[in-house]
Amino acid sequence: MTFEFRCEHVGVTDCKSATTAETTDDLIAKVAEHALAEHGVELNDTLINYALSTVIEK
Ligand SMILES: [Zn+2]
Repeated sequence: MTFEFRCEHVGVTDCKSATTAETTDDLIAKVAEHALAEHGVELNDTLINYALSTVIEK
């Protein structure tokens, strides 16, 4: 199973980045890194839950 997160899906339409991982824990870790590095956003529980609600399972 692969989980995929796209910034576009949470309204960051100018970011075409797709983050994938094999577990949601890994995915969130990568997304948190990306959000901080690229968007200057530190993920909190609310943002993590919102991000998870948009994750696609492949
Ligand atoms: Zn992004």
